[in-house]
Amino acid sequence: MAKKVDEVLDQIEERLRFLKEIGAGFVSGPKAGRLSRPSLRAAREEILAIQEKILRCKKCILSLERTHAVPGEGNFEAKLMFVGEGPGHDEDIQGKPFVGRAGQLLTKIIQAMKFERDEVFITNVVKCRPPGNRTPHRDEINRCSPYLIRQIQLIQPRVIVSLGKVATDFFVPSATGMTGLRGQFYPWNEIQIMPTFHPSYLIRNEGNREIRRMVWDDMQKVMALFGKK
Ligand code: URA
Ligand code: SF4
Repeated sequence: MAKKVDEVLDQIEERLRFLKEIGAGFVSGPKAGRLSRPSLRAAREEILAIQEKILRCKKCILSLERTHAVPGEGNFEAKLMFVGEGPGHDEDIQGKPFVGRAGQLLTKIIQAMKFERDEVFITNVVKCRPPGNRTPHRDEINRCSPYLIRQIQLIQPRVIVSLGKVATDFFVPSATGMTGLRGQFYPWNEIQIMPTFHPSYLIRNEGNREIRRMVWDDMQKVMALFGKK
């Protein structure tokens, strides 16, 4: 049934787009806007369009020093999403999220959770590297956030793991530190947010088994929600 509705919406949307393209002036405004839940195909197209926009974006000063913007990568229908703070040096060079040392650790964590890296979606709160890896400023986050919000709306994951305080603050604004926030789900627009420590923090505290154990506890809660053990 849901599939049928989706198909019909898909056709209507296609038709509207076509009419718009050929300049049928009446197809705009609230009528076209009502199709707010895009079909899978439309969602994929829009995700790609957003990626193109991000690559050219100049909405904040982080555009000035970047090598590449990093839109994010992975499955456009991912049930599980990871959101970090912002690209680091390696990510800026390669244009891909979490490919440096922290990224390699994140990949291991994902695999330990019995997911493949290309099965999930990985992105950041800001899409361009803050110079010297400084924390992104409030106004940079505000300017960039429509991209992340739209990516989430289109991908519709069930769970988002927010990595570190900046990402966690985006979903669960709070004066509490990560130690107090981690390890429990916070509902956010029908999505479950699981805050945990950033992999860079794990690396900085290498050998601290307590921190490793906490991250693993948090990820096991995510696995349980997906019925994985
Ligand atoms: N740290 C982040 O927060 N994001 C990346 O993509 C890489 C490192
Ligand atoms: Fe645009 Fe975001 Fe990059 Fe700023 S960080 S230039 S808002 S993509």
